[in-house]
Amino acid sequence: MKQSSNQLSEREISSPGPALDSDRPSINLMNTSWREADGPVDWLQTDDGVGRFAAAHGFEVKTGQTSSVRATLIETRRLLVRLFDPAGDPASDRALQSEINRVLTAARVSWRSDGDGRWLQVSAQAPAEGLSVQAVVDALDLLEDKPDRVRSCDHDLCTVWFVDTSKAGRRRWCSMERCGNRAKARRHYERTAKSVGTAEAGS
Ligand SMILES: [Zn+2]
Repeated sequence: MKQSSNQLSEREISSPGPALDSDRPSINLMNTSWREADGPVDWLQTDDGVGRFAAAHGFEVKTGQTSSVRATLIETRRLLVRLFDPAGDPASDRALQSEINRVLTAARVSWRSDGDGRWLQVSAQAPAEGLSVQAVVDALDLLEDKPDRVRSCDHDLCTVWFVDTSKAGRRRWCSMERCGNRAKARRHYERTAKSVGTAEAGS
């Protein structure tokens, strides 16, 4: 069988990367594709990735449903990235608004309020629609509440999204371990290389 270049390696399956790191379904969905040093990874290209993403968000994917869940999630992921694109303007993007609204008709959203708090509950016949509407509802909540706090990592080669919950709002990296330290190491290397270059030029 031909292996796609987007196929997950054993290592990536056992460590889900950023795809399930956040408690926000919209951020997790956008982070089902990301870049590793050796190229892009797309969790949704594997049946295992689709199943685990669904399970982590409260939906079970039964045999025969994987393809439709994959297609719907990839489409919704594309909408979410457009919604949070810093170069875009969802307030005036009518086409985007109607696509978002079309997704929202696919499931029932109800409001729950009790001693534990208030939340919107998504119920759907099929996991594809349930997961998709759950992610869109979550994204719209973030867009309303923290529009400038949803960003993608500053590292050139990283495409991981995060919600900046820091007080100052100046978070730059998806995580210090993944990218902050990589960037620091690169700056250190560049400084060292530069000083070595100067020493050689002067000798
Ligand atoms: Zn990063």
